[in-house]
Amino acid sequence: MKNRLLKTALFGACTVAAASASYGLIPHKSFEDSKRLEQDRLISAKINQYTNYIEPAPKVETENISEELEHTVKSGENLSSIFSQLDLSREDLHKITHANATGKMFADVEPGRDVVATVNASGELEELTYTKNPFETLIATRHDNDFDVKLLSKKVEAQTAVAKGTITSSLFEDAKQAGLPVKLIMKMADIFAWDIDFALNLKDGDQFTVVYEKLLVEGKEFDTGDILSVEFVNQGKAYTAVRFEDNQGKSSYYTPDGNGLRKAFLQTPMDFAVISSNFDLHRMHPILNTIRAHKGVDYSAPVGTPVKTTGDGKIVFRGEKNGYGNVVEINHGQNYSTLYAHLSGFKSGQKLGSTIKQGDVIGYVGRTGLATGPHLHYEFRIAGEHVNPVTAKFPRSMPMDNGLLAKFKAQTQPLVALLKQAKDESQVAKN
Ligand SMILES: [Zn+2]
Repeated sequence: MKNRLLKTALFGACTVAAASASYGLIPHKSFEDSKRLEQDRLISAKINQYTNYIEPAPKVETENISEELEHTVKSGENLSSIFSQLDLSREDLHKITHANATGKMFADVEPGRDVVATVNASGELEELTYTKNPFETLIATRHDNDFDVKLLSKKVEAQTAVAKGTITSSLFEDAKQAGLPVKLIMKMADIFAWDIDFALNLKDGDQFTVVYEKLLVEGKEFDTGDILSVEFVNQGKAYTAVRFEDNQGKSSYYTPDGNGLRKAFLQTPMDFAVISSNFDLHRMHPILNTIRAHKGVDYSAPVGTPVKTTGDGKIVFRGEKNGYGNVVEINHGQNYSTLYAHLSGFKSGQKLGSTIKQGDVIGYVGRTGLATGPHLHYEFRIAGEHVNPVTAKFPRSMPMDNGLLAKFKAQTQPLVALLKQAKDESQVAKN
């Protein structure tokens, strides 16, 4: 499956490479991310050896007496079973996997990859190679009675590519038509999931422009990297996102002015929930039988259904609160707080003061306190005032501070420029 996806991705990306060759060589600073720098460092140390390895000098004397046994790893196989099939010595296997830290990597052979054993006339293993991926090869070479094990790496280069198109049938079909690899179509939908309902609200004529990375080894594309910047025009409204890697090396997508794309709050605190009672400041209370404001929303769900915090924050109350039964209350900073009531129990490992992330489970649906049946009572407060969480306009995730914003601008402005260039070019092409 993985292989098939990769093939699809390669095919799609190649198409775009042809359609947008002019973008292929625009360098950008963000490619020099730490991961790649580390890769480069490892690579430059090994590259000469690797060149020797892929183009070995003809060894006239040994050529006639050594033989290469090729084996493509199948599902369920490991190096030990492959050694048995190729009739190789178990002692050599042990020596290779225990030669050094790199030797251990031979233990993780993956289906679809190639193992090549070079044996001499007496069937003795001289060299073993395993192609980990298009840019890394493990090689074990016999030296007397032991093996020298190395990881040889080729330099991975990133180039930018552009895919752009117009919706005429479906996001999937039209983006594929435009040459966008399948995994990046999914990514694009994911990036704009907070703003665009791709299932219900796409319209013919909606447009997308995607600037993304292609990964190459020795000039040949073998995979696609991330989306760098993207614009989606949905029903005339343009949404733009850029990729940014923060000081912790974590990359996510933001609006060009540095706001997170995700909202600070989830719409509902459960995956599947049915509203059983709305926010109503003049409701007749079902148990007390008096007019009493219902300052939250009730979601009916079976006892034990996980309840999630709708935003990042800190637990400021966790315990019993008269009619509310078991309650968790969370302060989200910036005057926002939420409350979850009638819980059957609390999530273990959390306590008063615990910091929690949006979507973390905090407890389970129950009917503790004054409740006619199992349900979650959910309240949303802004500066102490109860508001209806179903209709409230949620803010974007909390903005970044000024120091990070400067870094953000430096890193993402060229990506926005690339996006603009790609769009302008499509205008010219149309005219
Ligand atoms: Zn309620």
